[in-house]
Amino acid sequence: NTATHNYHAAILCPPGLGHIIPFLELTKKLVSHKKITKLTIFVASIKNNSSKPQMATNIVQSLMKHDLFHIIHIIHLPPIDIPTNTNTGTKLAMLMRELIPHICHEISTMTSPKPTILITDLFGSLVMPIAEKFNMSKLVFFTSNAWNVALTLHTPTLDEVVEGEYTDQKECIQIPGCNPISPCDLFTPLLDRNDQLYHEYLQICEQIRKVDGIFVNTFHELEAKTIVALRSGNISKVTVYPIGPLIREAKKQSCEDENRDYVIDWLDKQEEESVIYVSLGSGYTMSHEQVKDMALGLELSGKKFVWSLTSPSTKAGDDHYLTAGENAKSNGVAISQASVSSFPDEFYKIQSKGLAVMDWAPQLEILKHSSTGGFLSHCGWNSILESVSCGVPIVAWPLFADQMMNAEIITKEIGIGVRLNVTQSTNVVGSEEIAKTICKIMDKEDIEGCAMRKRVKELKHIAEKAWSQDGPSFCEMTNAFVRISQTHGV
Ligand code: UDP
Repeated sequence: NTATHNYHAAILCPPGLGHIIPFLELTKKLVSHKKITKLTIFVASIKNNSSKPQMATNIVQSLMKHDLFHIIHIIHLPPIDIPTNTNTGTKLAMLMRELIPHICHEISTMTSPKPTILITDLFGSLVMPIAEKFNMSKLVFFTSNAWNVALTLHTPTLDEVVEGEYTDQKECIQIPGCNPISPCDLFTPLLDRNDQLYHEYLQICEQIRKVDGIFVNTFHELEAKTIVALRSGNISKVTVYPIGPLIREAKKQSCEDENRDYVIDWLDKQEEESVIYVSLGSGYTMSHEQVKDMALGLELSGKKFVWSLTSPSTKAGDDHYLTAGENAKSNGVAISQASVSSFPDEFYKIQSKGLAVMDWAPQLEILKHSSTGGFLSHCGWNSILESVSCGVPIVAWPLFADQMMNAEIITKEIGIGVRLNVTQSTNVVGSEEIAKTICKIMDKEDIEGCAMRKRVKELKHIAEKAWSQDGPSFCEMTNAFVRISQTHGV
């Protein structure tokens, strides 16, 4: 059934680059897939004190370049004031609740055709009562892995059967048909059952169990066992569609973007697979101590490097996650004039061995470059998909959110990376551990490293075909719309 329908979909795009980037890609796929004839994007943001343009502005600019812009309508929801001392997850939940009346108002004032589908992400599912009010189909796009989808759908059951904190359990957490999860690797909202975030998450889980379908940014070969489990009906009846990998396209070298070309020109001069790329994500700040150990570790490894980072702080954390990327140009890189005086001496000593890129590096272009041979990553799911799609093995340094689960997938399930040991007493990863692990994945003579490099290149070829005409992810999206039109008549 490939009949064309007049779908008008509304997308609620939450803040945070790790969400915005895959949502942008989803938008392009929906439009080019021709199942959607009109698209309204609600762009959500948290008020900040900066006069810099919001990331939302970059999204608009990117979309403007898209051929099918005429069917896309962008609505910037008013930035919401959220207390800064709240954790990232709770901030997102608060933001979503505040947005409900604004979105309702926008939809009620829309002229025909009104949207018949609402697509949002995990935290955005808190606005799903809007879809019920306006009789819309409900789709969630998970920008995380399928294992986390299974955990989310199973959490209300865990809440009933598990006594005490999940983190105090002696045994791993079981989800029907899936690999068990070590309590310390659980998704952050589950780490403290007394925290507001846990209660917000339970409500999110309840909403997600009622949606009409879940798109997840993964593909079969990455998470075969979990995808089978999700489709068995033993976890939930909601249909899950693996539509990944949805990642940006790497930009071709352009004379218009000096900073980007500077990094790529430098990579052009290095030997094949000789450079380690280091990034702990779009909104993470390292402690001074950790920057020192990272610099020493890079030096000890003897490898050249490109390191994307922000100025260190006394306390490491993700405080800037929801407003990060304001310096990032939509088309590449902006090396900011950030004060570099706050870096330890060890950082300056290694500068002849590589490039430190302040605030924002052209990650995809770096990973795609033939000189890049490894990625030391915080294991954000987008970073993992990008690394897989470029055939680059990973040194896994998960920090929070779903990153520990992501790290387990790449190290244990598909064998394309090694996880760093964190010194528990200090929460820092030592320089020797960093050096040893980088060498493991990059040194030609390491047998395990060799197997990882071979496997990640195989996955790269599989990933390339996912979105080809009639490729598996393309077909999953088609199936989703066929099913929606059959069951909801939209
Ligand atoms: N990114 C980038 N340059 C940087 C840091 C991050 O282009 O210097 C991009 C990266 O390519 C990815 C996204 O930002 O698409 C980060 O998403 P991810 O899920 O990996 O981590 P998060 O930032 O959400 O923790």
